[in-house]
Amino acid sequence: MFDSLSDRLGGILDKLKRRGALTEADVGEAMREVRRALIEADVALDVVRSFTDKVRSRAVGVEVIKSVTPGQMVVKIVHDALVETLGSDADPIDLNAPAPLAILMVGLQGSGKTTTTAKIAKRLTERGKRRVLMASLDTRRPAAMEQLATLGTQVEVNTLPIVPGQSAVQIAKRAMDAARFGNYDVVMLDTAGRVTLDEALMAEVAEVKAATNPHEVLLVADSLTGQDAVNTAKAFDARVSITGIVLTRADGDGRGGAALSMRAVTGKPIKLLGVGEKMDALEDFDPQRVAGRILGMGDVVALVEKAAENIDIEKAKASAERMRKGMFDLEDLRDQLMTMQKMGGMGGLMGMLPGVAKVKNQIASANLDDKVFKRQTAIIGSMTRQERRNPKLLDASRKRRIAAGSGTKVEEINRLIKMHRQMADVMKAMGGAAGKRGPLAGLA
Ligand code: GDP
Repeated sequence: MFDSLSDRLGGILDKLKRRGALTEADVGEAMREVRRALIEADVALDVVRSFTDKVRSRAVGVEVIKSVTPGQMVVKIVHDALVETLGSDADPIDLNAPAPLAILMVGLQGSGKTTTTAKIAKRLTERGKRRVLMASLDTRRPAAMEQLATLGTQVEVNTLPIVPGQSAVQIAKRAMDAARFGNYDVVMLDTAGRVTLDEALMAEVAEVKAATNPHEVLLVADSLTGQDAVNTAKAFDARVSITGIVLTRADGDGRGGAALSMRAVTGKPIKLLGVGEKMDALEDFDPQRVAGRILGMGDVVALVEKAAENIDIEKAKASAERMRKGMFDLEDLRDQLMTMQKMGGMGGLMGMLPGVAKVKNQIASANLDDKVFKRQTAIIGSMTRQERRNPKLLDASRKRRIAAGSGTKVEEINRLIKMHRQMADVMKAMGGAAGKRGPLAGLA
């Protein structure tokens, strides 16, 4: 799966990894090669561009950790950018709704829709211990209805009896009624497909959706068709609003263009991968694992993560010392944010400072939850070292570059700079007060 892309990226990063020192030109050259590899893998151009921009600007700003090489750092940056492009977190089928819950399967004919319907039904029955009923709504192709019935027997999942002459909406309603009476948890509705997108197909799907109010609308798309799969997903989403994507034939897909573009282009998560014709050839789509598979450099990624953990304490102490002296730049702020993230809250270094409650309150009122921490850390991570040490350098064009690199907006960067300034002011005032009082102040 994704073997040819994996080979290409692996080759490029291997070269980089073995270098002792890296210049900006080295990174630039590697990114040009990565760009070519992604384009050849049929990744959407916009996605390629934002991916390489992100990696480049993070690589420029990155601080090399002791005990790993700059090349290894870049591998980690590429890995993280891949994970983000793929969607960050796994997003499984959601079954949190009152029974009977409907899952509407949509897609073009031949995409693997019927096969995937049965695969999912099997999985929900066996692993999820759900009672599942399947129904084929393909009124134009009796063979499709029989195919689902055959698969149902094979995976031991009930299918709705076929009644000739009913419309798709009538069958769908009958399936929901049968599920209610029969105490089923889940109804899988396998809609008809066409060879190409057409309005009649979309209208029928929309009508079925309106009649059944499905909890999930899953688009099944053939990953071998690359950008066509992405365009199909976009078209279905525009017309019937899908909740997720199943990419089939990932087992034969060396390039991975559809997998890499899907999330960024449609905004919808890939939930599952079809990886073969057998009924259990279905995998959860986990961005971390897929990125690991594409890069094949899990050891390097783990090494950099480990090294980053080890330097935290050292850094934290140095940062506290700098704060005491009233030197609080964006680099210090980033260390603070990362420490806070790790400690899962507002504890961290702040506790080491005198009169800290005031700053704490200020941060709390800025509504800093975990997500905000992460975005802010990403923003600072996309700055160069000089910019972090001297925020005054941040003019409009630098801010735009940083926004692109961190996947944020210029306004967020402005907010962060403002927050940093306020914190620095408070700390300066506190440091000054503590300094003036001094250790002997109480004796005077
Ligand atoms: P539908 O017209 O969309 O319902 O497509 P089908 O479910 O009938 O599938 C068409 C063909 O693709 C069948 O021969 C399936 O066995 C095959 N197929 C479906 N999913 C996968 C997959 O993930 N990998 C492979 N290799 N074949 C698949």
